[in-house]
Amino acid sequence: MSEQESSSPKEEIIIASSASEEAPAPEVKTEAAETSHSHPDLSEKVKGAATAADLLSEIVQMAEDDFIPWEEVTLPSQGVYYGDRLPGGLVRVKAMGIHADKILATQRLAQTGQSIDYLFKHCVQLTDGFDAKDLLSGDRIFLLYVLRGITHGNIYEFIMKCPNCETSSMQSYDLNELADTITGPDPSIGEEPFKVILPYMSEVLDRNVWVRVRLLRGKDVSQMANRQKFSKRVRAGTVGRKRPSRDIVIDQTITENLALVITGFGGDGAEGEVHDESKIKALVDRMHAKDTATIRGFLRDNAPGIDTMIEVECPECSFEYRADLPITESFFRPAGDQQPGRA
Ligand SMILES: [Zn+2]
Repeated sequence: MSEQESSSPKEEIIIASSASEEAPAPEVKTEAAETSHSHPDLSEKVKGAATAADLLSEIVQMAEDDFIPWEEVTLPSQGVYYGDRLPGGLVRVKAMGIHADKILATQRLAQTGQSIDYLFKHCVQLTDGFDAKDLLSGDRIFLLYVLRGITHGNIYEFIMKCPNCETSSMQSYDLNELADTITGPDPSIGEEPFKVILPYMSEVLDRNVWVRVRLLRGKDVSQMANRQKFSKRVRAGTVGRKRPSRDIVIDQTITENLALVITGFGGDGAEGEVHDESKIKALVDRMHAKDTATIRGFLRDNAPGIDTMIEVECPECSFEYRADLPITESFFRPAGDQQPGRA
């Protein structure tokens, strides 16, 4: 990867690379957030253009990358679970261009989750040969918010429906706050696939029995999406619908795909390790809820990523609740540019 002129300190690898905490905060307005973002200065290149025709021809001769420059971010995983394929978890991203509009125009893309792959293809630069589908699910969600932040600013406005009084209201969230929720890799849990002891089965068998568990990748999620029409993150047009909490969504996802994340089985005093898929499926079917809960809890606590659960207060009835930050159409638009009449 090429050297970057802006090697920002780790705390700054955030969602919108605007304002650090100490710096005098710009007005929390989309415009402010956008202008505080480092735009390239291309004035030199068009200095000689005297006519509109000259100007336009200068513009179209410039490379797309000159207009929307790449910048570096560090993934929550810090690259730890990719072997040496993504050193330090450093990737390059650039603001969304016309591709975001294409996603909005194509509901089918949004509903299958393919839109994310499409967006990543244009706006995320990985190392050679690294497929974005191989990124951890948590890294992908992080990137999605980064792209939103660098494109339309860190202030994200969306409509939420209060679970108490059912009134829909406009909520606003500063995406920079997500930087404080990052779960990084934990070297103390060993290498993937991780060994997780099954408490119930170990008790009844009177010896330690364990499974090997791996983290969810993008390709797992899109496979699920295709199989179950499981479009949990990008759901164009379902703004404000009552939705389950993030933990419930994750738990369901893992339960339904437990056999997918379990790659091996073994026990103390028993030689070797079993990797046979159909045998692991049979094991999962016999698992006690205590054991499946242990696996879910392990993944929830240790999977790198960001926590998108937010506190919301209903302006109508003052009811306070926690909800998952939704990805609605406004995710791909600047604040204040909502489609009228949608809610
Ligand atoms: Zn309410």
